[in-house]
Amino acid sequence: MKKYICNECGGEFSKNQLDSELLIDGESFCKDCASSLMEAGRDSVDPDHNFDSYEDWDENGR
Ligand SMILES: [Zn+2]
Repeated sequence: MKKYICNECGGEFSKNQLDSELLIDGESFCKDCASSLMEAGRDSVDPDHNFDSYEDWDENGR
């Protein structure tokens, strides 16, 4: 079976252990790294988690 190298942690994973949406874009991230990257992206706009969602942030965050 083909192995994929996670771009973030460098680990080897089979296809079903990768984030399928990112894989479509040609990015190989394992599911753990994909979810922590999403968290990091959210932390950069909302470090204190004051807002429940991006929609809330759009309305109240400026
Ligand atoms: Zn990874």
